[in-house]
Amino acid sequence: MEWFDKVKSTVSKTAKYTKEKSTELYDITRLTFSINELETKIDKLFKNIGMLVYRDYEAGAEFSEDIDMMLKDIDAKYEEISAIKDEINSIKNVSLCPACKKTNPNDANFCLSCGEKLK
Ligand SMILES: [Zn+2]
Repeated sequence: MEWFDKVKSTVSKTAKYTKEKSTELYDITRLTFSINELETKIDKLFKNIGMLVYRDYEAGAEFSEDIDMMLKDIDAKYEEISAIKDEINSIKNVSLCPACKKTNPNDANFCLSCGEKLK
């Protein structure tokens, strides 16, 4: 029954591959959700900054330190988003072209979009 063993082996390999793919998909979905959450927080920060700037302007005061803190918080969240995007790209086995920022397979020598030499 050698053929049966072959079938069994193929089935288990396929199951393993499917499981890996669904885990990857789950991770990507989870990471994308984190990015969306961060973007929502950034939107709120922008709105709050706008309100504070107007409050200070109306009072004829200098812009308060709260605004500076919120701006730095936005910077930190943008960095977080960038790190999450790198993680997603590594799961997908792709990397960004330094010139045009399009994604390419990790084993590509040249960008498929603009032809830039990749490391
Ligand atoms: Zn490119």
